[in-house]
Amino acid sequence: MISVLIALWFNLNILIMKTIKLAMLVVIAIGMTKCSSDVENDIQQNTTITQEDISPEILSKLQRMGFDTDKTSVASAKGGYIVDGDIFITEETLKETNFQKQAFYTIVDCNRAGNIRIQNALGNNAAGRGFQRGIDLWNRVNRTTLRLIPVNNNPDILVRLSNPGEIGGWGLGEFPSNGVEGGLIILNLNEPSIDGDPVTAREWGNILAHEIGHNIGFLHAEQGFFGTQIPGTPNVDPNSIMTSGSNPNVVFNANDVSNFDKRAIRRMYSNRNNRLCN
Ligand SMILES: [Zn+2]
Repeated sequence: MISVLIALWFNLNILIMKTIKLAMLVVIAIGMTKCSSDVENDIQQNTTITQEDISPEILSKLQRMGFDTDKTSVASAKGGYIVDGDIFITEETLKETNFQKQAFYTIVDCNRAGNIRIQNALGNNAAGRGFQRGIDLWNRVNRTTLRLIPVNNNPDILVRLSNPGEIGGWGLGEFPSNGVEGGLIILNLNEPSIDGDPVTAREWGNILAHEIGHNIGFLHAEQGFFGTQIPGTPNVDPNSIMTSGSNPNVVFNANDVSNFDKRAIRRMYSNRNNRLCN
């Protein structure tokens, strides 16, 4: 069983995004070098393909970009698609649109999610004082069966401080695996707040809520290209508690999880027929 750790907040996170974007830029650059001389020919050769040949996935992505694909022609072309007659959209651009969706990576079994034992091993400090806020932000959401129960022993999720040099940034969460929530959350007291002051208890609560989000399956709101979009959530949610550390003021200043975070968690964990958990 492989535990997938998600590296959060700044250092690793930004490094990963930079690597992905760099890799894509390289691909785009190589593609342009190889194809720039014959792009026009390729486009003309392939415009006979009708919209029926375009996969539903591509059509859905174009819809998310704002095209009315019921009324707009879409033709396949080398390296991308021609939309509305003369707009060439590369496959890379379509992949980029996936960078903005609220999504989960994997999910916790319904029964487990209703009783997740979580232990505060942070000690007497601002992070420890923020613990209750962190779990309350999720427990306060109504019409979901997700429940985080504070315990003093045998936790499902242990929340502890980082050892010296263990992590960069404010925190680390762990994705679920095989229907079991991620078992560890680490918070780093040595990381200053976005204004340079020590992180307050309230801010630690927000950060913990964010990390708990990972342990129950959420990706970053901007990183949905890894996972599955949660039905009923938008491609962009600027207020999501799952906003990545590259835009930390959203989490630091949050009064609550966002309305779409609530919608997402209700869809993931509930007693309704359309729930996503098993
Ligand atoms: Zn995160």
